[in-house]
Amino acid sequence: MQAQVHNSTIELVQGDITKEEVDAVVNAANSRLAGGGGVDGAIHRAAGPSIMEETRREFPDGCPTGSAVPTSGGNLPAKYIFHAVGPVWRGGMKGEPDQLASAYRTCLQLATERNCASIAFPAISTGVYGYPMDLAAAHSLAAVRDYLLDHDGTLRVRFVLFDAGAYGAYSRVLEEMIG
Ligand code: ADP
Repeated sequence: MQAQVHNSTIELVQGDITKEEVDAVVNAANSRLAGGGGVDGAIHRAAGPSIMEETRREFPDGCPTGSAVPTSGGNLPAKYIFHAVGPVWRGGMKGEPDQLASAYRTCLQLATERNCASIAFPAISTGVYGYPMDLAAAHSLAAVRDYLLDHDGTLRVRFVLFDAGAYGAYSRVLEEMIG
């Protein structure tokens, strides 16, 4: 499903983000940028070892929670990978919603600075970081909508949801948002 926001679009699809033909693919990284399982492992496997070398060289101190850093796309069909660090869910009262929104916003800023026409996000923090899927959907879609309302550019923002549960949660929130 998709929704128009200002001059931009938000699209929801179910699938594997490593296959996305977009200018920028967002990775759900950890703050040491050390790689791991889940979408992080899948992106590094598909992009190739040069991406880990690049992150080590360019960002030896890692990346703070709520932010993101850019590398090239390696073997992915994307120009860039933005390695975003979402919060670990600790019950919701430890700043998690702000940190999640900030991670999405930083990626959108990186995309704007690089004149990207399209960007693909996974559901950051909803795997091992434990962010409840329905809340992640609400908080991340609101962050993206607010950014797009504040910026004039034209951007295609794709949420690539790995399974039907994630797709369902995001589509319920987006429907409510546009309805
Ligand atoms: P985090 O540590 O931020 O929770 P995870 O990688 O554990 O990151 O999970 C984030 C989300 O990414 C989960 O919803 C998971 O199902 C999803 N995911 C895992 N592999 C892929 C993939 N190849 N494409 C898109 N999403 C994926």
